[in-house]
Amino acid sequence: MSLSHERSSTLFTEAQTVIPGGVNSPVRAFKGVGGKPVFFKSAKGAYVQDVDGNSLIDYVGSWGPMILGHNHPDVVSAVRDQALDGLSFGAPTALETELALKVREIFPSMELLRMVNSGTEATMSAIRLARGFTHRDKIVKFEGNYHGHSDSLLVKAGSGALTLGVPSSPGVPEALAESTITLTYNDLESVKQAFSEVGNEVACIIVEPVAGNMNCIPPVKGFLEGLREVCDEHGALLIFDEVMTGFRVSLGGAQAHYGVKPDLTTLGKIIGGGLPVGAFGGRKDVMEHLAPLGPVYQAGTLSGNPLAMAAGLATLKNLSRPGFHAELTEKAAKLLTGFKEKASEHGISLQTSQVGAMFGLFFTDQPRVDRFDQVMTCDGEFYGRFFHAMLDEGIYLAPSAFEAGFISDAHGDLEIQKTIEAADRAFQKLSMR
Ligand code: PMP
Repeated sequence: MSLSHERSSTLFTEAQTVIPGGVNSPVRAFKGVGGKPVFFKSAKGAYVQDVDGNSLIDYVGSWGPMILGHNHPDVVSAVRDQALDGLSFGAPTALETELALKVREIFPSMELLRMVNSGTEATMSAIRLARGFTHRDKIVKFEGNYHGHSDSLLVKAGSGALTLGVPSSPGVPEALAESTITLTYNDLESVKQAFSEVGNEVACIIVEPVAGNMNCIPPVKGFLEGLREVCDEHGALLIFDEVMTGFRVSLGGAQAHYGVKPDLTTLGKIIGGGLPVGAFGGRKDVMEHLAPLGPVYQAGTLSGNPLAMAAGLATLKNLSRPGFHAELTEKAAKLLTGFKEKASEHGISLQTSQVGAMFGLFFTDQPRVDRFDQVMTCDGEFYGRFFHAMLDEGIYLAPSAFEAGFISDAHGDLEIQKTIEAADRAFQKLSMR
């Protein structure tokens, strides 16, 4: 079976005349898998409808936010109700406090928190705060981790930057890039070594506690705990970028899952239920350095936007249900077991990774994939062919081998079964070439 994407193709051609590359975020351009992007029209539950009338089972979920499935009725009605009361005030609302309290209940390490409009803003602000608090300029990040596109963090980055082969972007001033020390994820020794040399100049370590922007790589045992110790020893702050992992790898994110407490946490995606939101927060003594209490400036006209707060609250209320994450974890495990069985039946080497409702697929002979260099040796070209074979079967996976997969509450047994059967046919097709 091959689906028609004629209308998508026409829309893409038109988009390219007015939007650079035809997309408003690079990874959408399908550079990682070849071909042309699919244009979406609507979505419901586990399915997205494209402009050619195809219905696709979606494992991207807007890159993470749609953990309840698309257009969950509670989220839609919360947004609709709020819209009737006003779209934006640029003044405080009770909803902002309500959402902040709910987030703090789930992430107790976030003693104080502030809402922003994206994950990029959250990490950028957290870094500025860490620098302002410690009076130090250097920051440590990990190769292949992605923290949004602010200057300091766009050095050896993952996600779309990696997919497009520009992990360190032109336009980032060299002086700023020099303050970003990039180390190897899951290699604690390299962190200890760097801190033994310049530890007293480092403001913070920022890390994806489960890496999700170079495919999905869980932390090896002791890595996060080790980062905590190194930071404490050298007076640096530990920032967990939980934009992807928050409310997904477990209710309380990676920090609850692994039992490691960061000084600051950044959130995005799920916290806005599909509307543009981010948040950063953490230790009270650190957060009190933010304006208007302290000297570190950070602001936003639309920050705490009432529609976004309403969507976020409705989402968090739903996913706080007991058993929610256990069910998602079980579903993702079932999907991966099916993928592995089918791959092996067709003689294809596939490794998988999973933490909660987040997963990775690696076409490789390596028994484990823990590090960036190992990710880079996986067969990205094969992934591209697999992606298109699955798309032809009505399954929408991430259009890049460097992204994690996401499952939602709306993915039922039927969808998972259909996906495994589709993978069977896709592997069959690919192994015959
Ligand atoms: N941090 C992480 C871990 C992310 O995965 C992303 C986006 N994928 C960001 C930050 C940036 O978020 P946004 O795209 O909302 O700016």
